[in-house]
Amino acid sequence: MYKGFQEFLQKELADIKEAGLFKNERIITSPQGAIINVANGQEVMNFCANNYLGLSNNPKLVQAAKDALDERGYGMSSVRFICGTQDIHKELEQKIADYFGTEDTILYAAAFDANGGVFEPLMGVDDAIISDSLNHASIIDGVRLSKAERYRYNNADMADLEAQLIAAQKHRFRLIVTDGVFSMDGNVAPMDKIVELANKYNAMVMVDECHSAGVVGETGRGVTELFNVRGQVEIITGTLGKAFGGAIGGFTTGKKEIIDLLRQRSRPYLFSNSLPPVVVNAGIKMFDMMNETNELQEKLHKNTAYFMTKMLAAGFDIKPTKSAICAVMLYDAKLSQDFASNLLNEGVYVIGFYYPVVAKGQARIRVQLSAAHETDHLDKAVAAFTKVGKDLGVIK
Ligand SMILES: *Cc1c(COP(=O)(O)O)cnc(C)c1O
Repeated sequence: MYKGFQEFLQKELADIKEAGLFKNERIITSPQGAIINVANGQEVMNFCANNYLGLSNNPKLVQAAKDALDERGYGMSSVRFICGTQDIHKELEQKIADYFGTEDTILYAAAFDANGGVFEPLMGVDDAIISDSLNHASIIDGVRLSKAERYRYNNADMADLEAQLIAAQKHRFRLIVTDGVFSMDGNVAPMDKIVELANKYNAMVMVDECHSAGVVGETGRGVTELFNVRGQVEIITGTLGKAFGGAIGGFTTGKKEIIDLLRQRSRPYLFSNSLPPVVVNAGIKMFDMMNETNELQEKLHKNTAYFMTKMLAAGFDIKPTKSAICAVMLYDAKLSQDFASNLLNEGVYVIGFYYPVVAKGQARIRVQLSAAHETDHLDKAVAAFTKVGKDLGVIK
């Protein structure tokens, strides 16, 4: 029985390889950080992690995780509503709501689940979901699970959003959904304009803050802080797997009744296991640290501005950004791969992206800055970019 399917799979895999799209995992043998060791023994500077605040191996979070192991054990062996809720799960949910200025929060195993479980219980056949064309895969999948009618607008294009809102007036309820930061360009969703249009056309707003929470806005509260619309969006989803420590875990935070209904009907919450105490306790510690000081945000913003300025001065073509993502445009797929591989030889680990991950002719290197980087790392990275850029004829 398997033979025919096996041959089919072998052909699929060969096709992926032939198209140059085969994804390999690079093996790291150290903790996540600004400097990592890879399996061949090489030590490299890491510029491609979502470790925006440098918290992935933070000693205080490691200690909080260890304390939780001793005091609350290893696993919960249950979904939340049967016997998988400890006091610390409730405490973390409250801390997240306080951080974002929302009314209540529901935890998930990942933001992929938060997005997968948010639309189907809330938006039905009579309703409309109006989604940015570059939204994350988990939003696209989540929207598919809902019976609501789908509308799509071009990335951050407010004229198109307005046109879609007008077309969607016939529905009972309308929900606009957008990523806060789009991960390929690093551009931010224009939340002020989105909220304005939502008010004009009687729509609700959901924003996925996965790449923006902890990062964007003066104190890292995300795009609702950056655009001064805190409290004006109904739903925020986010992850504990990027800036907020980098382990695992997602959440939906927002209006009380929305969260209440998700606890009754959201399938990834009802039918999947509870977050382990180590992750929850470290999450609590992380939000406590965020409330004490903004020094990590300040360092990250400083690092990002420094790196961008130096790269522009070196002659690189950089997408404008307010996030910690810096897209170095190369426009050629093969060049982006050669560039990344030469950079690795210079001790700088970054990834080159090309079609179909980004549009055709839009190949680039994506650099992710971190508060874990020191000025010395940034200088070395710019020097490596400059050397490789000259070698490959990208800059003069
Ligand atoms: C990373 C990411 C997710 C998924 O987060 P996980 O917690 O890793 O599942 C969802 N949405 C966006 C915009 C992301 O960048």
